[in-house]
Amino acid sequence: VLEMISGNTGYIRGAVNIGVYQHGQGECTIVDAGLDQSAAKTVLKALKKEGLRLRRVIITHAHADHTGGLARLLVDMPAEICATAWEAAFIENPMLEPFYLYSAHPLDDLQTKFFLSTPCSGVRVVAPGFELDDLTVVDLGGHSPGQIGIHTKDDVLLVADAFFSETVLEKYYIPYFAHIEQAKDTLTGLLAKKAAFYLPAHGALMNDIHTAVQANLDRLTAIEVDMIRYLNQGDLTKEEIISCFVRDRGIDLNMGQFHLVAATVSAFIAYLKDQNKIGPAFSQGFLKWSCAI
Ligand SMILES: [Zn+2]
Repeated sequence: VLEMISGNTGYIRGAVNIGVYQHGQGECTIVDAGLDQSAAKTVLKALKKEGLRLRRVIITHAHADHTGGLARLLVDMPAEICATAWEAAFIENPMLEPFYLYSAHPLDDLQTKFFLSTPCSGVRVVAPGFELDDLTVVDLGGHSPGQIGIHTKDDVLLVADAFFSETVLEKYYIPYFAHIEQAKDTLTGLLAKKAAFYLPAHGALMNDIHTAVQANLDRLTAIEVDMIRYLNQGDLTKEEIISCFVRDRGIDLNMGQFHLVAATVSAFIAYLKDQNKIGPAFSQGFLKWSCAI
C-alpha cells in the first residue's frame, strides 16, 4: 500500500521501505527495490493500484536487500536505473558483494539472497548534487562508500542506511559500516541537515533524527575506545578483536553476521592505522595489530 508522507512523496512500508515520488501524469520514481521477488510484487501491486507507471528506480546503495527485487520489478515496469558509479558496479556484478565480504570467491553461506542479488545492466550513473526532476541526490557514504540519499521537493529526506535505529544498535552492537571516517562525516552532516520528514530504509518514518544519529556516532566512538583498550592489553589479530567484542558485548554471530562484523572491524583497523593509533605486527604468520608503534 502506498502511504503518503507529504505532497507528492510517499512510501511503501516493508522490511526495506520503498520511497515513491509522484511526478504527475501517472509517473513516479521509486527509491530502492527491496530484497526479493516477493518485495518486488508488493511494490508492483501498490503502484498498479494507484495507476502509476515507473519513470526510474534510484538505488541508494547496492546491498542485496535494496536491489534483490530490482530485476523482477523491471520485467513488469521497464524504467531507468540510477545509482552512483561505485554502487552501479555492484548492481551490474552482484557477486562482488559476497566476494568483498569474503575477499575471494565466496562461501555458499554468503551466496544467499541476503548477500547476492540478481544482475541488472544499463545503470545511469548519478552523483551527489544531481537533480532528477524534483529529487536531489545527497551523499550518505559510509555504510557503503557510494551510498546516496534523496531529498524530495516536499522536504522529505530518504536516508537509506546512513544510520541505524537504537533497537538495531542494541541488538547487533557493531552496525555495518564500510568506511568509518566517511560514516562519521555523513552522520555529522545529518545532524546539521534539517528536513520535515526522514525515511530510513529500515524502521519508522521520523520527524527528528537527532537522538538516533547521535547514538550511531556514540557507538562508533565506543567501538574505537573498546578496540584501543583491547589492543593496549596486547597485540591481536582481527579475529581476536572480533572475539573480544563477542565476549564483552554478548554478540551472537552466524556466518553472515561474522563477515559483516569482520568487515566493520577491518574498517576500524584501517581508520585507526590512518591516524597512526595502531600499526601492524607480523608474528609467525599472524597479522596482529598493535598500539605500540
Ligand atoms: Zn545496507
